[in-house]
Formats: sequence, structure tokens, C-alpha cells
Amino acid sequence: MNELWDVIIIGAGMSGLGAGIRIAMSGKKVLILEQHNAIGGLNSFYLKDRIKYDVGLHALTNFVPQGSKGHPLNKLCRQLRIPYEALQLEEQRLSAIVFPEMELTFNNDINHFLEQIDKNFPKEIDHFRKLDDAILSFSETELSGPEFISARKELDNYLSNPLLKEMLLLPLFYYGSAHVNDLDWRQFAILYKALYREGFARPAGGVRTILKLLRDRLRELGGTLKVKAKVQTLKESDAGVEVQLASGEVLRAKQVLSSVGYSETLRLLQIENNTTFPMLSFAETITTFDAAPATMGLDKTIVFFNTASEVDYSPCQDLIDFRSGVICVPENYGNNNSSTTTLRTTHLAGYNSWKSLEHEAYVAEKKMLLQQSREHALKLLKCSLRPAILAEDMFTPLTIERYTGHINGAIYGSPKKYRDGDIGCKRIFICGTDQGFLGIVGAILSGISMANYHCLS
Ligand SMILES: Cc1cc2nc3c(=O)[nH]c(=O)nc-3n(C[C@H](O)[C@H](O)[C@H](O)COP(=O)(O)OP(=O)(O)OC[C@H]3O[C@@H](n4cnc5c(N)ncnc54)[C@H](O)[C@@H]3O)c2cc1C
Repeated sequence: MNELWDVIIIGAGMSGLGAGIRIAMSGKKVLILEQHNAIGGLNSFYLKDRIKYDVGLHALTNFVPQGSKGHPLNKLCRQLRIPYEALQLEEQRLSAIVFPEMELTFNNDINHFLEQIDKNFPKEIDHFRKLDDAILSFSETELSGPEFISARKELDNYLSNPLLKEMLLLPLFYYGSAHVNDLDWRQFAILYKALYREGFARPAGGVRTILKLLRDRLRELGGTLKVKAKVQTLKESDAGVEVQLASGEVLRAKQVLSSVGYSETLRLLQIENNTTFPMLSFAETITTFDAAPATMGLDKTIVFFNTASEVDYSPCQDLIDFRSGVICVPENYGNNNSSTTTLRTTHLAGYNSWKSLEHEAYVAEKKMLLQQSREHALKLLKCSLRPAILAEDMFTPLTIERYTGHINGAIYGSPKKYRDGDIGCKRIFICGTDQGFLGIVGAILSGISMANYHCLS
């Protein structure tokens, strides 16, 4: 008979790893199953033509300096007993929100952002301070509460300038909204703090630094990680949960924590599920130039841009929506004096449009749009230099679906979040994207809190 695990976790993304460490710390027998050979899920890395690429990592949000108390980043380090300095964080220099009418800059000091708002929207500064106070005293991590509170409607209670509202919302949409042109007020509060109140940093060495820390910590505590172990089905009974792998192997556990999404978990349980959600997916390009960022005139760490006064954050009907996006230059963290520049662009992209292409057309479109996206970004950043390109790659909503299992390549999952992790099973719970805490820090904390709540209480 197979051994009985206390907890099996599906997925070695940030939330699965966070949950696994927390459970291993309690001395319970925990096994993480990951379908790929690389861990990290949406925030992973790969090697192509002998060049290393990070997927996803623009920024580790929620940056606070060492020693700060009561913030998600310290909570994460404390709960997992990971020393803060092991993250090797380098702070952002300066980021911007760019609209045709105006540019607002921000860094890891909220006073800079307040000054920017005072300068550009003098009539709104007092209202903005009230909004900031309200968010600071708001408890957004409550596991219960109404399903959805419109952030747009809530914002109307504080601000009247439409442009300021759009500018505030753009980065938050891109970094965590599963809703069309809106987001849940609690999600707004989480992201507002994560981006504007706390800020951006990047581990030296990129996402590998965080993943190595998490994997080593799990092993040190006796947790088990199995890669190339795709879960095919789940069966729950009073005795426990049977986990069948694609290889045919059957494993047994007292409890299962699934980080693969709500609909994706029901699919494993073979439960019919008619939940539909907006096809909000992204395409991302990565280009490495043979020149330093300063030589190219690139001084910003992250630029969120919109080419109209209003943001249209809705499913893309085409292959790529160039009207808005995010541009990141990872070398513009810390005192990096790299002689090369990495340019990363992210845009809304249409899952169905990519899906309808035959293989040859898919490859050709990818090549053409990669070039367009790169040129679009350089033009927007007013960069006239075109140094030699050392490496370049792109991923589409189909890449995301293939490598993470997220239906329709929907990065932020279902608009409805299952904040207490309860999906109607006795022994199977969810963590991660569809639980509702997003991003690297959010996902790890989601894993920790669901492990604490369901497996360790
Ligand atoms: C383009 C992009 C840019 C991003 N940028 C940032 C950023 O700059 N900063 C930031 O903080 N966040 C960023 N994010 C978001 C962040 O990556 C996610 O919120 C977070 O990583 C989600 O973690 P998770 O554990 O919930 O889910 P996932 O990362 O999706 O992990 C789920 C894991 O489950 C595995 N899996 C799925 N099905 C199965 C199965 N049947 N059997 C076994 N394993 C399975 C998957 O392979 C995956 O490893 C970005 C995401 C993307 C895609």
C-alpha cells in the first residue's frame, strides 16, 4: 500500500512552495507535485539557445527595508524563517505611469508619489491623502466578506479627477486584476500598498534567487518535491484523497492543497463546472541589447503606459493590444552597472486569436509582433539608439496555458476569489491565484495562510 502523506500540494509555484515549507515546519509529511521539471509556475525561468530567461519577474512588489514591521514581506520571512538578507533585494530607481496628457513618477518612498500628485493634481491632493489614510486603515486580508466591491465606485468616494483615477488604476490592473476594467476593492487595497506604499525591488540573480531559497528551505525541513509529476485526477473520500498522476501512479493524502486554480481543480475532481471568466491574458517579450541602459537613455525601472485618457483593460480581440502595457528594464534596480540592457514588455493579448493560428502562422506572427512590441516600447521611451540585439524571445497566452495549466492563459484566474480556500470539499482546498493573494509575495503568503488555516490549525 502506498504511504499516506499528511498533505499533498499540487503545483510548485510561489504559493505551493510557501505552503509546503510552512507545513514541513510543523513536522507533517508534505509532498509537492509539479508537472514541469522547473519550479516557479508563473514566475519561473528557462534556458533557450544557452541564454537564461526569467519569466514574469518585473518586480518583487511589497518592498520594505529590513527591520520594518507588520508588512507582508517581513511576515513572509518570519513565517518561513527565511533571513531577509538572503533575498538580496535591490530597490527600484524610479518608475512611471505615462499617459498622453501626463507622467507621474514613483519610487519606494510614498512622499515622492504624494509630491507628484500635489504637483500635477493640486486640487486632488487632500482627497488623495484621505484615500491613502482609508487604505492604510483597511483590513484587506479578511478571509470572509462580500464577493465583489467595485474599486472604481469606491474611488469615486474620494477622487473626482477622471485622469488621476485612470492613472492610479492602470498599474493595479496589470499587476493583479481578473476583472474587466475594474478590480475588487480589497484587491485594490492590497495592490495599492504593494506598489505605491511599499514598492519594487528585485533579487540579485532574479527569480532563481527566490526559487532556490524556497526549494532549499523545503528540503532542509524534510519536505518532498517531485517534478515532472502531473496530477491527472483527484478523488475525495472519508478516508482521504487519492491523487492520480498522469504516469498512472496513485498517491494518498489526508489533505490536498491545490494551487492550480479553482476551475482547474474542479477539472481534476471531474466535477462539471460552468464558470466562465474574461479572457484576460498577456503576451510578454524580452530583448537583450548590447549597450548599457544609460547609453540608450533608459533611466526608468518600470513604465506603465496608456495611449489614451481612459484605460481599456478588457479581453483583447486581436493578437496583441498595443494601446497599453508595461515596460521593465531589470538593470535599473540598485547600483547595477551592467553593460547590457534587458527590455521586457507586457501587453494584453487575445487567447482565441493566438489559438486560431496554424503553427507556421503562429511562429510568423510571434516574430513580427515581438519586433513591433520592442520598437513600440523604444519609441515610447524616446530611445533613438538601436544597439545590437544579443537575445530575444516572446511568450503568448498559449505559452502561459502550456506551462502553467491556467485555462485560457488567464494569469489572474477567476474574477471570483475563494478567499478562505474552500471549494466545497472536506479535504481539498485551494491556495494561490484563485484564493486571491497575487504576485510573488502575495502568492507565497496565500500558501502560508491556507496551510495555517486548513492544515495546521
Ligand atoms: C507575465 C507575468 C508577469 C508577472 N509579473 C510579476 C511581477 O513582476 N511581480 C510579481 O510579484 N508577480 C508577477 N506575476 C504574477 C505572479 O507570477 C503570480 O501571481 C504568482 O506567481 C502566482 O503563483 P501561484 O503559486 O498562485 O500560481 P502558479 O505560478 O500558476 O503555480 C501553479 C503551479 O502548478 C503547476 N500545475 C498546474 N497544473 C498542474 C497539475 N495538474 N499537476 C501538477 N502541477 C500542476 C504549474 O505548472 C505551476 O507551477 C507575473 C505573472 C506573469 C505571468
